Amino acid sequence: MDRLQRLEENVKSIHQRCANAAQSVGRDATGVQLVAVTKYVDTEWTECVAEAGCHQLGESRPQQLWEKSAIWQGPDVAWHLIGHLQRNKVARTLSIAHLIHAGDSMRLLKEINRHATETSPARVLVEVNISGDSAKTGFSSEELPQALDEVAQLPHLIVCGLMAMASRDRRGDEARSDFSALRELRDLCLPNCPGNVKLDELSMGMSGDFEVAIEEGATIVRVGSAIFEGVV
Ligand SMILES: *Cc1c(COP(=O)(O)O)cnc(C)c1O
Repeated sequence: MDRLQRLEENVKSIHQRCANAAQSVGRDATGVQLVAVTKYVDTEWTECVAEAGCHQLGESRPQQLWEKSAIWQGPDVAWHLIGHLQRNKVARTLSIAHLIHAGDSMRLLKEINRHATETSPARVLVEVNISGDSAKTGFSSEELPQALDEVAQLPHLIVCGLMAMASRDRRGDEARSDFSALRELRDLCLPNCPGNVKLDELSMGMSGDFEVAIEEGATIVRVGSAIFEGVV
């Protein structure tokens, strides 16, 4: 099998695994979106991923998002910024990104609001440090309700949901408690959330644990290395 075929097989298998995980807990497979994380590969391979059927692409560095989208020749895609966004990179990123996953501080969210407009509001997720790891970014579970109150005052933001990473030392099924904690936190905050704070989306789960995340309610999984296994 050549590398392109292997990529296509991987994509097909990951789509299938997402659907199976959703069905195993009685969820509709269309309620789970696969964001293919292309940070490991160049633009050519990124286009191959899109041609293999992944039209939601994620990059963790703003510069890579800019560069790839600027020389992009492939099919129509929606770009996701899944990593940290520096405040001086907000304007340029906003013009490209369909969704910013790591809304990890109030200063950043305010800056995004400042660059967005009423007619083109910014779609963001609020990042939660669900594992409590001191090395991780995002709002703590305790800070989240207050943070959501504050973002509700930022009229050019649409808060689509929450994003989290499982603790580094919890792999596969061990990550389940982090994922269920994020879902429970969302359910807790939701009744008090005003208009622009919707919380429909839960972005959680990566190559090692995306099925567990889907079982626990993920609507967006961010999968990178599993897509490129045996390819690059
Ligand atoms: C790299 C990255 C991923 C993808 O991780 P894999 O384990 O390669 O699937 C997901 N989310 C974020 C924030 C990342 O930086």
